[in-house]
Amino acid sequence: MPAQLLDGNILSKKLRAKIAARGAIVTAKGVRPGLAVIVVGDNPASQIYVRNKVKACEDVGFHSVLESFSVELGEAELLARIATLNADPSIHGILVQLPLPEHIASERVLEAIAPQKDVDGFHIANAGALMVGHPQFKPCTPYGCMKILENIDYPIRGARAVIVGASNIVGKPMALLLLQAGATVTICNSKTRDLAHHTKDADILVVATGKAKMITGDMIKTGAVVIDVGINRMPDGKLCGDVDFDTAKYIAGWITPVPGGVGPMTITMLLMNTLEAAEKAAKL
Ligand code: NDP
Repeated sequence: MPAQLLDGNILSKKLRAKIAARGAIVTAKGVRPGLAVIVVGDNPASQIYVRNKVKACEDVGFHSVLESFSVELGEAELLARIATLNADPSIHGILVQLPLPEHIASERVLEAIAPQKDVDGFHIANAGALMVGHPQFKPCTPYGCMKILENIDYPIRGARAVIVGASNIVGKPMALLLLQAGATVTICNSKTRDLAHHTKDADILVVATGKAKMITGDMIKTGAVVIDVGINRMPDGKLCGDVDFDTAKYIAGWITPVPGGVGPMTITMLLMNTLEAAEKAAKL
């Protein structure tokens, strides 16, 4: 029997309605949630991502500012702009779209964002807080994956979870969130020997490698929950994930599509983090 589809658009719609309602309450108290999105350079994918984020803010009634800079922008100017936004009471979340041009050190930029406005959860203080189990902001993509699992009431406690990919923005925080929820977690990377041995053992398989269709149906345990974070553009212009959906859907119990799975959830959780930052600012 084909897997059940984990539709991120449907779940996002429900969550965004709740976010809009909570946003209206905090706005009525004089604090309208506000997000500043900064993008440097003209990377076409980044331009699409930032426009989607700003539009999502508008749709739930949040204030949003898009600051788009040319690729020549210097690091000092970017840091100065972030300092201004840190001090701006109408802004509760600041997001710098990655990747940044090579002449700008991403770590220095991410560390410059005030931790209480770091709605991406990438500041080292927030990464550390997540590590010790008291996250202020959960990174949006892993947070969205957890919401997908929560929505199907999947028993995470005691489950075997395998994460393929170990980046700071997806793989590692995903592993920490699953660990904190009681899963037994394995993290794989590009050096992992016999990857299929690990993936076939997973009740929950999360894939975030950026390698199109690398996880095929024969690498998946029957009935597993498969969460595909990857977004890859194929030569024909179509998007696909890191999981080979056409073979995986006959083996998995649940599976996220690409597009329409984790992608919309990432933006939804960005809205959630911005809302929570505003609620804290309003002392709600
Ligand atoms: P990175 O390139 O930062 O990290 C990729 C990770 O995958 C690394 O840890 C790497 O291992 C590992 N990896 C690469 N090849 C293999 C392999 N053959 N076997 C096992 N592990 C491998 O990527 P990101 O985490 O930033 O993104 C991953 C994917 O998720 C991309 O497609 C990206 O576009 C997508 N993405 C989607 C989002 C969404 O909202 N849906 C949000 C963020 C990302 P090593 O550490 O050894 O190099």
